[in-house]
Amino acid sequence: MTLLDVRDLTVTLPTAQGRRAALRGVSFTLDRAGTLGLVGESGCGKSLTALALMGLVPEGAHVSGSIRFDGRELTALGDDAMSALRGDRLGMVFQEPMTALNPVHRIGNQIAESLRLHKQMSAAAARAEALRLLQRVHLPRARERLDAYPHELSGGQRQRVVIAIALACGPDLLIADEPTTALDATIQREVLDLLDELRRDSGMALLLISHNLDVMAARVERLAVMYGGQIVESGPTREVFEQRAHPYTRGLFAARPMLGLARGTRLHTIRGRVPALHEMPAGCAFADRCESAMEECRLADPNLRHVATDHSARCLLVAEPKGRQDALSEDSDTPSR
Ligand code: SF4
Repeated sequence: MTLLDVRDLTVTLPTAQGRRAALRGVSFTLDRAGTLGLVGESGCGKSLTALALMGLVPEGAHVSGSIRFDGRELTALGDDAMSALRGDRLGMVFQEPMTALNPVHRIGNQIAESLRLHKQMSAAAARAEALRLLQRVHLPRARERLDAYPHELSGGQRQRVVIAIALACGPDLLIADEPTTALDATIQREVLDLLDELRRDSGMALLLISHNLDVMAARVERLAVMYGGQIVESGPTREVFEQRAHPYTRGLFAARPMLGLARGTRLHTIRGRVPALHEMPAGCAFADRCESAMEECRLADPNLRHVATDHSARCLLVAEPKGRQDALSEDSDTPSR
């Protein structure tokens, strides 16, 4: 059953060169208890997608399209209604826990604040629940750390506190935006395992955002690759990993650091860089970096094409399976579940 249905989401931002589109027709769905990963380099639109879902786009941004969450149209909600949803039914975990935590407040109080605000708990009940949540996210010595300040904890422990805050009100959807980027490799795995465990136990849906493909493997059922503010490939994670239908997806895979590489081996890089909003090329957004680019790639933005059932890519080189050429409209690109 669909929890989140995003259709043709477009966000324009004011720039020195005029208003430019930072998200362009992003569409996907996510089922209750489902998992979806958004992957791509910095500047491809992943975090802006998350902020749009949370109603937290930067000042001056203009949002169009539709974001339906449990049947409610979020783009039509006012600030008060959005803020009531945030922290209650929509939880978010940010990349850098120190920016998400208030450095001058004790962590127990920061968790309890959300419970008092959204669940109208008494101070005593909220404190007891804060302790339960810290134990739930496996924070060592949780009882004595209720009164600790964020700077007294390690990076991994702080991220556990941020997750506890995000989970405090039992959200239906947790958006985790690069939740482990600031952590070392061992702690990264622990935090991702914790998110898996909490998601399975609570039945919430997870939208996981990362530039790291290895983080996505085995963590999300479906994957959407973003480039230039668009989804350029989407499908079941295993299929996207195996088929890599879009040249950008192939570039991301080739650039992955791998264990066992001989010393001195140079990693593949995708030539060039993600274009700034005002530099977006005509036609295919990836044309300036694509080793397979042809003249016609610069004439018009490629439509999504079927790679297989439930798997699509935005590239002229994708040969659609026989009989599917007319079946996929822009709106039907819905990396569901
Ligand atoms: Fe490359 Fe052309 Fe495909 Fe774009 S449409 S990814 S430029 S081959």
